[in-house]
Amino acid sequence: MAAEPVPVVRSCARMREMARELRGDGGTLALVPTMGKLHEGHLSLVDRARELADAVVVSVFVNPTQFGPAEDFGAYPRDLEGDVARAAGRGAAAVFAPEAEEMYPRPQTIWVQPGPLADRLCGASRPGHFRGVLTVVLKLLNVVRPDVAVFGRKDFQQSVLVGRMLAELNLPVRLEVAPIVREPDGLAKSSRNFYLSPEERGRAVRLSAALREARAAFAAGERDASVLCGGVRGTLEEGGVRVDYVEIVDPATLEPVSEVGPEDVCALAGFVGETRLIDNAPLSGASTLPE
Ligand code: AMP
Repeated sequence: MAAEPVPVVRSCARMREMARELRGDGGTLALVPTMGKLHEGHLSLVDRARELADAVVVSVFVNPTQFGPAEDFGAYPRDLEGDVARAAGRGAAAVFAPEAEEMYPRPQTIWVQPGPLADRLCGASRPGHFRGVLTVVLKLLNVVRPDVAVFGRKDFQQSVLVGRMLAELNLPVRLEVAPIVREPDGLAKSSRNFYLSPEERGRAVRLSAALREARAAFAAGERDASVLCGGVRGTLEEGGVRVDYVEIVDPATLEPVSEVGPEDVCALAGFVGETRLIDNAPLSGASTLPE
């Protein structure tokens, strides 16, 4: 059965009105921010958002300010028509898809400064990335003014930084972080997986396989972060993944740990061909990695 068509809102002014209409008389609103090319990972956030609020807005915006000059902003996959159909199919009430000029009508001179947590992990190899992310997230929150914003654990560092921003800037928005949705072999779903050739797709499974091995080593009693990270790195390199970083960090502070506890998180990034992929998992407890 075809889903009800959903409105696609292109301007901030109309989005503000629409948000008011969607709230109606005392209803709650959730925002799911995305860069589009929606897959099951994004759509699981829509499902979660529908559990948490009366109406859900999905934003689709490839944010230029979070891409470095040598990164894939121009090539980033875009499919607004498909995204609108997919969001509608999962019960979103509206899609907010502004052009860059709408979100950045003049040169941006005021930014969210994300602080030292943004300098490590992905931030170390993507300078300025989290400044762009937090700035656009704040803009989106100011336009839509949701009660709850739903993010994925796939972008673990991003979810921690957004949580910090909400707390430290006193934003009246609840953060919900939803689990990583994976392919049956374990690869975390990502819009960037569309870049992978069949041969690269074969290699990409190493990211989740390496995390699974680290969890198995932890379960067998290994607590030394350098040993666990060394194992992960070895699995990635042997499988033809060029490592960007492998770290085990405290999930609240993102500080690297030396003696690993069950809630600490192994986070990694690596290149498969030209494509940079990320993944993470706690060393113990719930994860969506295959057994
Ligand atoms: P993106 O479009 O890549 O910026 O992602 C938009 C949101 O979807 C972010 O909060 C991501 O963490 C989340 N997301 C992306 N992939 C997944 C996935 N495989 N599982 C869960 N959440 C995801």
